[in-house]
Amino acid sequence: MHFETQAVHTGVHKDSQYNSVTTPIYPSSTFYWDNLDTSCGYDYTRSGNPTRDALQENLAALEGGAGCVATCTGMAAVHCALALFRPGDHIVVPADVYGGTFRLISRFLTEKGLAFTFVDMTNPEEVRQALQPNTKGVWIETPSNPMMKVIDLAAVAEIARNHGAITLCDNTFLSPYLQRPFEFGVDIVVHSTTKYINGHSDVVGGAVIAASQEHAQQIAWICNAAGLACSPFDAWLVLRGVKTLACRMDVQQRTADRLARWLQQHPLVETVYYPGLESHPQHELAARQQRGFGAMLSFDVRGGRSVAERVCLNTRLFDVGVSLGGIESLVCFPATMSHAAMSEEGRAAAGITDRTVRLSVGLEHPDDLIADLQQALDTPAPSESQKEPGTPC
Ligand code: PLP
Repeated sequence: MHFETQAVHTGVHKDSQYNSVTTPIYPSSTFYWDNLDTSCGYDYTRSGNPTRDALQENLAALEGGAGCVATCTGMAAVHCALALFRPGDHIVVPADVYGGTFRLISRFLTEKGLAFTFVDMTNPEEVRQALQPNTKGVWIETPSNPMMKVIDLAAVAEIARNHGAITLCDNTFLSPYLQRPFEFGVDIVVHSTTKYINGHSDVVGGAVIAASQEHAQQIAWICNAAGLACSPFDAWLVLRGVKTLACRMDVQQRTADRLARWLQQHPLVETVYYPGLESHPQHELAARQQRGFGAMLSFDVRGGRSVAERVCLNTRLFDVGVSLGGIESLVCFPATMSHAAMSEEGRAAAGITDRTVRLSVGLEHPDDLIADLQQALDTPAPSESQKEPGTPC
């Protein structure tokens, strides 16, 4: 079956009583037993729930994995995946990993006895050089946030495998529609389903998908033991969202490509970071391992922070917000928003400046978005007192 067909049908038909075409929500926390020896297959919703199972089946199929757990947030998924490791294990991580993952790694998990080395993973050689006898994992996030650097999945997975380590990939930015890391030898895929998979900015959720049965059993055990699973209602919403993933992604990335090319020729824009541009340093790699270039892009403006602020504050269709992957376009100023928790040196090393603006491109008409960016770039930023009450920034 093609991706689009799987997205609509897999795991969905759970109602044998009334034949509903959408999966019912089973909000029950507990399921009664007919006798003292056998349950109906479900007994308690933290451990298993039919609505959540439908979503898990669906996402496992879309990634081509053996099993999936659907978690209550993307960070719960990241934590669940990293719980595969034990105190004393060492894991290699990209220097510009998502800030929430960085916080979990650098504070919480380091205190629990895991060790991490941060490298520029666009150069797989740096992964090889960072390997230690106790290296058990390599964490990948590609494309990176917000600079859209692309990591060679096959090269990094091979280096890890040859060392006896597993590879884990945060696939949030592209979704399984545009990138399927298992095809490149990755062992575990993680998602914040909050983003493209749900796509409607009305759920926080996550998923961990394992390529092997063995890892699938381990993540299911961790998810139950630590109580990380999502609610039946959230599972239902994400399952509703994922059915339109392919067509949303097609339109959003087509619009992102138009915006990237338009921005590239604007005199106030210095550099556009979008893997779909032929000028992107890893354009060929992205074309090889991705099915499309996605709907996230960043750009540096000329003329300093005031011009970047002007874009963020003047746009009318792009709400100012830190999330991404929804049907509505968002604009973000990484230095004070999504990457505020990063040190100034960390941001500088990642290439994030106070002239960097990030866009999450939604489903609006590209002509309207371009007109909005045009007026935002061409109009001086409003002062605080000039802003209309209720404007999003
Ligand atoms: N991974 C990436 C790449 C993200 O961008 C995010 C959130 O922005 C997360 C994980 C965490 O997801 P959540 O906010 O759903 O916990």
